[in-house]
Amino acid sequence: MEIDTKKSRILLDCGMDPSDNSLPNINSKDIGAVLVSHAHLDHCGAIPYFDFKKIYCTTPTVDLMYIIWKDISKLSKTYNEDSIKNAMGSIESLNYGEEKKITNDITMKMYDAGHILGSSSVYLDIDGKKLLYTGDINEVESRTLSPADTDIDEIDTLIIESTYGAPMDIKPARKVLEGQFIGEISSTLKKGGKVIIPVFAVGRAQEILSIIFNHMRSGSLERVPVYVDGALIHTTGIYLTYSHWLNPKIRNSLENGMNPFGDVKKADNSVFDNDPCIVISTSGMVQGGPILQYLKLLKNPNNKIILTGYQAEDTLGRELEEGVKEITPFKNKIPVNGEIVKIEFSAHGDYNSLVRYLKKIPKPKKVFVVHGEKYQSLSLAMTVWKTLKVPTIAPTVGSILPLF
Ligand SMILES: [Zn+2]
Ligand SMILES: [Zn+2]
Repeated sequence: MEIDTKKSRILLDCGMDPSDNSLPNINSKDIGAVLVSHAHLDHCGAIPYFDFKKIYCTTPTVDLMYIIWKDISKLSKTYNEDSIKNAMGSIESLNYGEEKKITNDITMKMYDAGHILGSSSVYLDIDGKKLLYTGDINEVESRTLSPADTDIDEIDTLIIESTYGAPMDIKPARKVLEGQFIGEISSTLKKGGKVIIPVFAVGRAQEILSIIFNHMRSGSLERVPVYVDGALIHTTGIYLTYSHWLNPKIRNSLENGMNPFGDVKKADNSVFDNDPCIVISTSGMVQGGPILQYLKLLKNPNNKIILTGYQAEDTLGRELEEGVKEITPFKNKIPVNGEIVKIEFSAHGDYNSLVRYLKKIPKPKKVFVVHGEKYQSLSLAMTVWKTLKVPTIAPTVGSILPLF
């Protein structure tokens, strides 16, 4: 999203389309700064491709973003190591609540968005007018993070995400999901089977690790080796480094000498031996990354794959979800005899959570609804209008609109 004022041009996030890694259509010349809400591909993936003067984000976002960028440069060759280095050199990191004058007429501040480590809602003072861009938000406390901060200064214009913006987008309580998840893992381990869990490297991976180890510690889940692979080895390390950005429960367990993400092992050949185990690996939609090499475990009907998030069209994850009998991750076909289960853990607030968020923050005078499929955006726009009675727009990509 581009913000143009009389004196400056800035971007709020600069991501890639996660389904095909395509770049946004922007003119990067004269952009004074890019403000990054969090280290997910769809919010930061495209940055090194452009040569931006200045990039602002929270401190943990810097480290997470570096891993994401390295992953992209390896997988898609959109940009190289030099562009990443160049981008790293332009970053200035902030803490939540820290005010920063970024151009002649814009001052910024970041609030905790509760979505992934270091995620933020970006608050701008543009010549006295106030704008809040929520970024991706979760208003409910998770295993790893505090809920989104709603104790926000006055707002003229709100830009809100709408991933689960339709009234039908109501998710079961976390406890229920966790129960199902642990139940699915247990039933496979009891049969002597293996459980494969594809995840994205940041956010859900750490939630899942903390759920698994919590249940192993309390005895409600059999203790078996948990193998991890892919970028999440590094990202989980970053979660530990920035533990003071996580929720107080996680901080407590760390202070008591307990690793909330458990005693994981780097995946090796023992994943393929005869003993039951859990293997967690990238990528979340099974369209690349080390997860592909574990798919051959699905030849065995005792093994199971648990999909933990949305699976886009044209991904292997979607094929599995749709119940295909054969997959071709590499050259050879593999029969799918194992079980396929989907339990969606999301780092986004559901519809009810978005509505609660809207009621908790100061009432804006105008609202833009973004970051959702068309139906979700339009539905949330309708809800906002009904709840707050202020002008609300769900703009299409490419539209130019007055901010205030
Ligand atoms: Zn996100
Ligand atoms: Zn997003």
